[in-house]
Amino acid sequence: MLRTRFAPSPNGPLHLGHAYAAIVAHDLARAGGGEFLLRIEDIDGTRSRPELAEAFRADLTWLGLSWDGEAIQSHNLARYEAAADLLKSRGLLYPCTCTRAEVAAAATEHGPDGPLYPGTCRGRDLPLTDGEPVAWRLDMARAVAQAGPLIWHDEISGEQAARPDLFGDVVLLRKEAPASYHLAATLDDAADGITLVTRGMDLFAATHVHRLLQALLDLPVPRWHHHGLLLDESGRKLAKRRGSPSLADRRASGEDGAALADQLRAAHFPAGISVGEALD
Ligand code: GLU
Repeated sequence: MLRTRFAPSPNGPLHLGHAYAAIVAHDLARAGGGEFLLRIEDIDGTRSRPELAEAFRADLTWLGLSWDGEAIQSHNLARYEAAADLLKSRGLLYPCTCTRAEVAAAATEHGPDGPLYPGTCRGRDLPLTDGEPVAWRLDMARAVAQAGPLIWHDEISGEQAARPDLFGDVVLLRKEAPASYHLAATLDDAADGITLVTRGMDLFAATHVHRLLQALLDLPVPRWHHHGLLLDESGRKLAKRRGSPSLADRRASGEDGAALADQLRAAHFPAGISVGEALD
C-alpha cells in the first residue's frame, strides 16, 4: 500500500513551506488510496523542543489534513544503535573526534552538505576509552565498493544514478545526538513502511546517501518525490529566521487553514512567494 510521511523537526514552528510539504505528502497518499504518517524527528537534543509537536498536530488539523499514524524518532534510539553496530562490525564505520571548525579548516573541497571531510581520522585507530566525544563516520569508499552501483527513482526527476561519494565520509552517529539525519530517516522510513518518500528539493542530494544505506542494511527501497520549495522574493527558501510567519501565528489570527491549504494546492501563493529551487 502507498504510504507517505511528513517528518518535521521540532526545533522551530512550522511555516508555509512546511504546510506545502505536508499537503503534498498528504494529497499523494489520499489520491493513491494510501496512508499518510506524521513523524516527529526529535533526536537532536540540543535543538529539539518537544512541546512543539503538539503545535504541529494543531497546525495540520487546522490545514484540514488527517493522518493515519505517528512515529516519534526519540522512541527508536535502539534501532539506530543496532544498525550502526552492524556497520561497525563490517568495518564500515570509524570514530572521529574532529570538531566542525577543524573539518572546515582542513577541507579542500565542498560537498552537498558543506566542507568535505578530508578523512583526518580514517585509519587512525583512536583509543576510545578517555571519554572524549566521538562521531562515527561511514568509510564511503569501502561502503560504495561493497554496495556497487545503485539507482533510485524520483517521481518528478526520473531515474538517478546514486552518487553518495559526493558526500565523502558522512557522519552516521553524531557526537551530540544519537544518530545523524541520514541514518535515522533511512531506518525510520523502512520501519514505518514508507513506500513514497516525499520531501523538498533541498534534500534531493541526501537521497544518494540514503540509497546507499538501504543497500548496506538490506532495507526495502521506496520511491521518492522531491517537490519544489516555497521561496521568498530573493529566491531563498522560506525560513522562520527570515521572518516567514508561522502557521501557529496564522492559526491564532483566525485565518481559515483549509482555505489556505486549497490556495497552496492551486499554487496561489501569498504575495512575494513562489515555488522553485532555492538559491541557497
Ligand atoms: N526532518 C527533516 C526536516 O524537517 C525532514 C526530513 C525528511 O523529510 O526526510 O527538514
